[in-house]
Amino acid sequence: MERTALLRSLSCSSLACNKYYFRSSHKLSQSLISRASSSSSSSLSAARRNQLRLIPNLIRRSLHRGHTRLRAPLSSSLPFNKHFSALATRAVASPPTQPSPDVAEVSDEVAEKYGFEKVSEEFIKECKSKAVLFKHKKTGAEVMSVSNDDENKVFGIVIRTPPKDSTGIPHILEHSVLCGSRKYPLKEPFVELLKGSLNTFLNAFTYPDRTCYPVASTNTKDFYNLVDVYLDAVFFPKCVEDFQTFQQEGWHFELDNPSEEITYKGVVFNEMKGVYSQPDSVLGRTIQQALSPDNTYGVDSGGDPKVIPKLTFEEFKEFHRKYYHPSNARIWFYGDDDPKERLRILSEYLDMFEASSAPSESIVAPQKLFSEPVRVVEKYPASEGGDLKKKNMVCLNWLLSDKPLDLETELALGFLDHLLLGTPASPLRKILLESGLGDAIVGGGIEDELLQPQFSIGLKNVSEENIQKVEELIMYTMKKLAEEGFDTDAVEASMNTIEFSLRENNTGSFPRGLSLMLRSIGKWIYDMDPFEPLKYEKPLMDLKARIAEEGSKAVFSPLIEKYILNNSHRVTVEMQPDPEKASRDEAAEKEILAKVKSSMTDEDLAELARATQELRLKQETPDPPEALRSVPSLSLNDIPKEPTRVPTEVGDINGVTVLQHDLFTNDVLYTEVVLDLSPLKQELLPLLPLFCQSLLEMGTKDLSFVQLNQLIGRKTGGISVYPFTSSVQGKEDPCSHLIVRGKAMAGRADDLFNLMNCVLQEVQFTDQQRFKQFVSQSKARMENRLRGSGHGIAAARMDAKLNIAGWISEQMGGVSYLEFLQALEEKVDQDWAGISSSLEEIRRSLLSRDRCLINMTADGNNLKNAEKFVGKFLDMLPSNSPVETAKWKARLPPTNEAIVIPTQVNYVGKAANIYDTGYQLKGSAYVISKHISNTWLWDRIRVSGGAYGGFCDFDSHSGVFSFLSYRDPNLMKSLDVYDGTADFLRELEMDDDTLTKAIIGTIGDVDSYQLPDAKGYSSLLRHLLGITEEERQKRREEILSTSLKDFKEFAGAIEAVKDKGVVVAVASPDDIDAANKERSNFFEVKKAL
Ligand SMILES: [Zn+2]
Repeated sequence: MERTALLRSLSCSSLACNKYYFRSSHKLSQSLISRASSSSSSSLSAARRNQLRLIPNLIRRSLHRGHTRLRAPLSSSLPFNKHFSALATRAVASPPTQPSPDVAEVSDEVAEKYGFEKVSEEFIKECKSKAVLFKHKKTGAEVMSVSNDDENKVFGIVIRTPPKDSTGIPHILEHSVLCGSRKYPLKEPFVELLKGSLNTFLNAFTYPDRTCYPVASTNTKDFYNLVDVYLDAVFFPKCVEDFQTFQQEGWHFELDNPSEEITYKGVVFNEMKGVYSQPDSVLGRTIQQALSPDNTYGVDSGGDPKVIPKLTFEEFKEFHRKYYHPSNARIWFYGDDDPKERLRILSEYLDMFEASSAPSESIVAPQKLFSEPVRVVEKYPASEGGDLKKKNMVCLNWLLSDKPLDLETELALGFLDHLLLGTPASPLRKILLESGLGDAIVGGGIEDELLQPQFSIGLKNVSEENIQKVEELIMYTMKKLAEEGFDTDAVEASMNTIEFSLRENNTGSFPRGLSLMLRSIGKWIYDMDPFEPLKYEKPLMDLKARIAEEGSKAVFSPLIEKYILNNSHRVTVEMQPDPEKASRDEAAEKEILAKVKSSMTDEDLAELARATQELRLKQETPDPPEALRSVPSLSLNDIPKEPTRVPTEVGDINGVTVLQHDLFTNDVLYTEVVLDLSPLKQELLPLLPLFCQSLLEMGTKDLSFVQLNQLIGRKTGGISVYPFTSSVQGKEDPCSHLIVRGKAMAGRADDLFNLMNCVLQEVQFTDQQRFKQFVSQSKARMENRLRGSGHGIAAARMDAKLNIAGWISEQMGGVSYLEFLQALEEKVDQDWAGISSSLEEIRRSLLSRDRCLINMTADGNNLKNAEKFVGKFLDMLPSNSPVETAKWKARLPPTNEAIVIPTQVNYVGKAANIYDTGYQLKGSAYVISKHISNTWLWDRIRVSGGAYGGFCDFDSHSGVFSFLSYRDPNLMKSLDVYDGTADFLRELEMDDDTLTKAIIGTIGDVDSYQLPDAKGYSSLLRHLLGITEEERQKRREEILSTSLKDFKEFAGAIEAVKDKGVVVAVASPDDIDAANKERSNFFEVKKAL
């Protein structure tokens, strides 16, 4: 519930660079585990993405990417996340724990009774599931009913929604249908579910051609509640009769007073403005539209802010009527619940409809292939600082075929993609980055979630004169690889990595059933077989056999030739920085609005002001209690009284503490080596992320970094290295460690520990050129973060002003880190010897058997077997190194700060340490802060303020309570809302139902679903932070017994944020200027880009 909560309001947009739009997910992450867990998660998310990319259409990497980013924390762009061999943060490898499940069957009679016919059924051994495809006879709705013993049940309904223009109808509809329905006539049932259910997943996403509504829960009663709310929302939403919902979620004119200027407002409108301010998103959209100009992919399903205001309510209603129909729906059920009950629930809804013509109207037409390559030049909004001549992007893109590919070809292409780009050692990635022509890769390789697969690759931060060289280098490298083939070790490493990832099936915090649904729907949505994408075993074995028989060259060279070299459907996209674009767009918008205003009579203006007032009043009026009660919820009796316990044995090997978690992991061993950071000199802290990257990507005396990477790929499931920092409650000194995480099949424990030792002790810090690349890549990544995750940057900055752990994190992932990188870039040339010896010094300070801890998760036998390798590993670590701890005594000055970036929307934060006011931690704080986010801030910052998200966050370790907004059109106004929170709490009235929901929702966060490796990891973090089982039990009891009195008392603590809080905004220059004029020099201004 701490730092991770920051990301709750990240959403669609986070994915936008990838074309898909998510509704905001407010799911807090597992609580009582600090940002730490998240810091690792983020660090791994990029790596994870690489891992997932391997298997196109088998694992939906883009969505994973989006989802993981929802939770990505402050340090999300630490450089170590580049390492490919990701360890999923909180996940592990087991398919459902028992072999074939003993599930209830649905007889033909039962199917018949509910109006369905069985189309086909199969046992799918890859996911140990019985899958049955049903068809609803009356409407033709298709249902995949997947049964196994996974308690994390998943439901999803997917509608085919190809748009014809860029007004964003599918996206606005996706937001709007969750704003009240026939059975649940309140403002936002979605928010009520977030508040009061045990869901393990609740969201909605808009793709370029489909809209998905998935939910998940481990509690059966809760699960069916969620299913019913979603079904009612999709088929009977209020929004089609309610113009105000359309205005709120889509767009409307806003005018408070006839003497003021008219503005545009709307949740999706603002969300998309944010998306269109991000260069990577502009690139992604340009690529998609240029590759498929003639079909639905030639427009933006998310909505172009310039076009959104053209959308009428009539078109909006018609789109729902036409497409949101059972005949056009594909429905997915997964898990250990009764398959008969699934059909019963569905029949209640589906039987109300007759068959429609929607399926034929929603067919996605393929793009015909070009006979000649095409070039597109586009501008993106850039800041004025820096050398603009070097800020171009260039990306080569191919549409691979005129129809969907078969699974074998897709698998082989996915494999090829991994060989080309999957790891830092992969030739295409390596050659591009080493060329010095640009400093980060753009275009993510194979993209195969849409009808026709595509391949994209390019570089960013390229100078004008090098654009052509990048294009030539890509073509030359592809040609050379087609001629010469790939290294045998590289092929073996890719094969092992792909197989490991498929068998481990580690979906992190993403429900496994949802991952399978997205995989299946990728074909099913185009009327192909929904079973086929789930069955990877045979095509994988066939591919392996072919490679063994014919050699990898015979397999991959023809693919490169056919799909890349001889493919005339190639689009080169060139993106040029335009420092005036943002202000020009702004001016154009103002001009339109001025015209609108001048065309209005005084009566019109008065009417508009009245309508604005009316909408706001409606938004701010709470739902009546009877409407709120319509949303089904659990009672406190349904909630376990005790927290989930992770088996943990604390032992000792060669004098070193070893934690062991005996959990079923399907023969995978997960381990963490934890090294104490406290001896490290303060000035070396910012170098730590690059130190981590160097360990994995610099090579040893005997092994080049390519060889080391391949070895890790061949022998293990991956190794990653990252820093972990958190405050500890009641202590001045932070908890600060370096964590080396690794996983392998248990039979390869020896290899795993040897490789971890090699990474820690044998890597040489001698490669100046590679280090220089790390620096420029990290810099590019930080710049990206500043634009895309400004709230994370603001939060880190506030934390750095309030506590030491926050200061450390900001040194390694905030604006300070970006400044450090900017200076370091020059220093690499001037004083490489100095940097290299600093890296050595970091290693010397950290490597010590006396200040080390080991964590392992696997089943009992495998743990026992691994012990001797742990002993060997520990014997090799130096002991008796100096034990003095460095004293880090730094914080940023507690001034209000505004960080200027070129943007049209802001990120606004305010925070204070409430422990300083004498507040003592109680479990109720979690319930209260969640409630503030879901009610007060949601209504004021998002619904009426028009921001994409607004929320608060309480870090129980440090005591920092922060408010944050995301893609916010306002600045000072949001601060006023934050300041009103104490009064909101004092005046709060709450019935028992509402309170119970708030408590249950909080428990849902605390008990978030975890795969076994995540359980072992959480337990490690609790150990490091000194959180005992007694304390967990106490907090849980406090959560369960939270009363209205606690809310009122908390107002005092919140008052401190108002009075003493520090403000950090990442915002546009105009808004900062205006704010500083309004409240004389409120902000100290800092330019970061
Ligand atoms: Zn959205």
